[in-house]
This record gives sequence, C-alpha cells and structure tokens, in this order.
Amino acid sequence: MTASREEMACQICLSPLNTLGTPPTYIHPIRLTTDGHEPIPVPVSGLDTVDRTCDFCGDPYPVWTLHGGEVAAVAVGPAGGVVQNFGDRWAACATCHTHIDDGKNDKVVDRAVRTLGVGDQPQARERIAQLHQGFLSARLPERTLITTTAWPTTTITARDLPKVRDRLAHLYRGPDSLPAPFTATDERHQIADGLNRAHLFWIDKDFTELAEHAADILPEVTITRDLMPSTDGLIVWARPVTSRQITAATWTARHDSWKVINYRASGGGLDGKPLQRLREDVGWLAPMNAARVDEPHLLPGDHPAAALVATWLLIRQQAADVTTAEADKGIRKTYARANRPMPVVRIVRIRAHSTTRAGTRPASGDSGLSHTNRFWVSGHWRNQPHGPGRTLRRAVYINPFLRGPDDAPIKLSTTVRMLGSRRPEVGDQE
Ligand SMILES: [Zn+2]
Ligand SMILES: [Zn+2]
Repeated sequence: MTASREEMACQICLSPLNTLGTPPTYIHPIRLTTDGHEPIPVPVSGLDTVDRTCDFCGDPYPVWTLHGGEVAAVAVGPAGGVVQNFGDRWAACATCHTHIDDGKNDKVVDRAVRTLGVGDQPQARERIAQLHQGFLSARLPERTLITTTAWPTTTITARDLPKVRDRLAHLYRGPDSLPAPFTATDERHQIADGLNRAHLFWIDKDFTELAEHAADILPEVTITRDLMPSTDGLIVWARPVTSRQITAATWTARHDSWKVINYRASGGGLDGKPLQRLREDVGWLAPMNAARVDEPHLLPGDHPAAALVATWLLIRQQAADVTTAEADKGIRKTYARANRPMPVVRIVRIRAHSTTRAGTRPASGDSGLSHTNRFWVSGHWRNQPHGPGRTLRRAVYINPFLRGPDDAPIKLSTTVRMLGSRRPEVGDQE
C-alpha cells in the first residue's frame, strides 16, 4: 500500500519498504522475514522486479495498482494509539481484481481472512472488511498495470503470436495506465503502430538456448539498421532468457532511432475467470524496461537489450533457419473479418550445421559420447571486419554447433564450453 511519494524497495530482497517519520526512515514490512540485512532503499521505478503482494489478500502475483480512498487505521494498545497508514494505492491480484470488478467484495474479504488465518475471529473479519471498504468506496476508475511482478513461467507458442501481438497493441492504445517510462500517450501509440507493422518471430527452444548463451557473453556491438531482421518486430523466446527473465522484446522504428522494450509473460499459474480477465485486459506480455537505440549506437554487452541484439546477430549471420507458420483458423477468420492481411509468424530454428565447415563436423555414426544425445559445443564472439575496405567490425558468433546424430534429442543441460577458435576434429572425440 503506497502513499503518493516515490515508492522505495529494498535492493537486496526487492521488498517494498515502509516508512517511519519525517524525513522518512525506510524499514522492511514488519511481517517480512529477512536474513537480518539492513534495508537498502532504491526507487521502485529503477527495478525490473519488485517482490510485492496483493494488498487485499497477500497473493504474491499482483496485477493492478488500484487508486482509492486514503485509508488509515488507529490501533489502540496499552502504550497508546498507533496510526497505521494504508495509503490510497493498493496492489490487487487477478482474483481479487475480478471479484472487485464483479462487485463481490465479500469474496475479497474471505481471501484476506484465509491468508491471515483469522477465520474464527468475527471481529478480525469485520475490521478487514472496514479497511477494504474504506479504500474501495472512494475508488477511482484509473488502474495502473504492475509490471514488476515475477510471474511463474508461462509458455507462449508460435501460434499464439498474432493474438499476443494484438493484445499488446491494445494495451498500449487502451485507457489503462502503465508505469514510467510507458506513460506518454503519443509514444504508446507509436509502439502500438509499430506492433501492427511488426514482423513476428518465435524463437524455438534450441535457438533460445543458443541466444541466451550468446547474450551472456555479448561484446560491445555497434547497432545499425541492417542488423535487424525487420524494421519493426516482436520476438518471443520459447522460455524466459537471461537473469532478467525476458520472454519477449519489441523494437519500434522511429524517425532517427529505435525504441527497444523487454517484456515478461504474465498470468502463469492462473486459471478460470481471473486468467480470462487478465488475457482480455492485459494480454500475455507486460513491458519491463525500455531503451532508446540510435544509429549507429555502441551498445555495451551487458545492456538490457543484450538478448535481443544477440538474437538479431545470430539470425543475421545465418545461424538461423527461418520458416513461416500458418495462423490457425480462428485467427485467420478474425483477421479476414477485420480486413487485415494474414499474420505471418516466423519460426526461428538452428540451421543445421550452418557454421561448421565441411570436414570438421563429426561424421554421423562416429563413435563417442554423443550416440544418444546431441551436445552444445558453445562458441564465442569475434569482431569480424566487413564493409567497404573491410573497415567496419561486426560481432560474429563463432562455432556454435551441435555434436551428435542429427535426429538425436539435444541435451540442453550439458554445455561443452570451447575456448578460442579450436574446432574439434574427427577422431578428436573420446
Ligand atoms: Zn531487504
Ligand atoms: Zn488478492
């Protein structure tokens, strides 16, 4: 529950912090069990992930910040009265939000009573109901999407992509507030327009694995127009990538630059009406962070867009086999009714042996460790000269390839790290 001043969270445990006194001292919430560390307050706006809970019921995956009445309660004990300020902005989980929207506030109270374990205390229930009522009776129509919730992993398939794109464009165009830096209406509309033009890329499981490793060790890269597989785009990885747990990224062409945005997938673990409502209101993706990229722009390897840039580079250097998938019947009908061109989903897979040279790939049927599985032999980045007079440099990922029979499953848990540019030769296997 937050008052209007800039909200702070602890940099160590990512928990939102309470304040005491003026000027404020930041403290961990009383009920939070920590390892005893002192809170390190940082503004919430600078964090991708905040460990926030629903202010109504304690659920760990809040979706919306609701704006309502300023609620304060006085607890009177032997030592006198203590004013507890619950603020005028409350985080709500998908289930509580659905109940509130349906006018079933008592069900929200039920949830809180269950969480607090006070089902046998009618007075406690009454007090919770009063607090909720104090807030909800002065509720404003505005709601703000919470984009810092670390949802359980949810899978987005290639065939979901057209509707994932459409819902995201809808979110940017719609009336719901987004937190900074996604507040400016004209910019939101620009991103939505870019999504309508976007090429849709779905990165399969193995290519995702490759891209993640390549992103982890990405060097500085000069971003130029020809690096991108399309002018505007949406990329969805088969699973969340890097420590940031990014599920998708978009890039939007602007007059002289691009807007690059990372997304997390929301709604994991939900079902029934709350999930349906979330898909209608929000869709699948919540924006996490954004960056402006100019051309040419030297991007540091640890930039938030590293996963996207590594994927661009790998597609660009033809490590990818890109095929198109036909949209399913329902989507084709929806698009036909709206007079829109059929959406094309590009599926990105690893191109078979694209980066190995003839004679260096272990012959199939070769004896060795990889009879039943294929293993990643991971590569490294090298700056290769290209362009006029070979004066330009571009990072090229060297030697990513799979070792083992073509039809064997890829064993993802085993990554054989290769140093330098040494390639294994036939007979080099044990
Ligand atoms: Zn902490
Ligand atoms: Zn809740």
